Amino acid sequence: MANSCSGNNKMQGHPCFGGNHHQNGRMHLAVAPRCNIKCGYCSRRHDCANESRPGVTSRLLTPEEAMVKVREVMASKVLGSMIKVVGIAGPGDPLANEETFETFRQVGEEFPHLIKCMSTNGLLLPEKIDLLQELGLHSLTVTINAIDPAVGAKIYSHILYHGRKLNGPQAVEMLIANQLAGLKKAAEFGMTIKVNTVLIPGVNEGQVPLIAEKVKALGAFVMNVLPLIPQADFAAHLPPTEAQLEEVRRANERIIGQFRHCRQCRADAVGLLDTDFKAAEVGCAA
Ligand code: SF4
Ligand code: SF4
Ligand code: SF4
Repeated sequence: MANSCSGNNKMQGHPCFGGNHHQNGRMHLAVAPRCNIKCGYCSRRHDCANESRPGVTSRLLTPEEAMVKVREVMASKVLGSMIKVVGIAGPGDPLANEETFETFRQVGEEFPHLIKCMSTNGLLLPEKIDLLQELGLHSLTVTINAIDPAVGAKIYSHILYHGRKLNGPQAVEMLIANQLAGLKKAAEFGMTIKVNTVLIPGVNEGQVPLIAEKVKALGAFVMNVLPLIPQADFAAHLPPTEAQLEEVRRANERIIGQFRHCRQCRADAVGLLDTDFKAAEVGCAA
């Protein structure tokens, strides 16, 4: 099923929410290095697996350097008309980094027509959602890998919450509660919401329909089921086959629209989903 964007003109420009991904591009700004949870499939040497392909590390940018990049890209003949979205997706969790908010503020001032988009693990969403609304965030991705804390505890090894390191099902219960409460509030603000779920065979496939039902009821627009990329604690774990992934997506489609064009992009990707320009090619690298 194609994702329907009718009634939401702005989203027709967003390649990750069912907009024309052959024509419309997005620019990721890698301004968020720190993370506040530990997903078992993440090796911190790489970009955030929320939205990024492991094995390629981004060059971190300050908000000021990010603005230089935005200006260069928007002045470029090829990319200037293609880029519709500015996204912050890592390499850590955007909400754990003040630079995220400053960058959105500056982008909004200078390029108000660009769609502001962000991807998060959702731990801090309830306390940051008002600020994101003030900054004009339009679309939000929350990565939710479980509804059952006991399953989540097999995926998340710890969370860092207001200076405390917590683990086990109780900690994961709080993470999930925050993800859902933040998502609900984002939907009430009218944000367009995508939920990413990393499919880990033998661990969380039974959670996918439960996540879908829950987030659909809270106002999510689309779900993006991503295959596990084996690394870190899950280095020896088998990823889903293409057929397994498709089966899960097809079943899930009965509950909520599925986004199938995700390329698990780097935190500094620029361009169309299928034909990313390297930062150096667009003159963004210092
Ligand atoms: Fe890694 Fe992203 Fe998970 Fe943080 S939220 S541990 S950066 S995958
Ligand atoms: Fe937005 Fe995520 Fe797509 Fe980046 S990857 S543009 S943050 S939906
Ligand atoms: Fe879009 Fe997926 Fe790339 Fe994000 S990681 S920009 S959702 S294709």
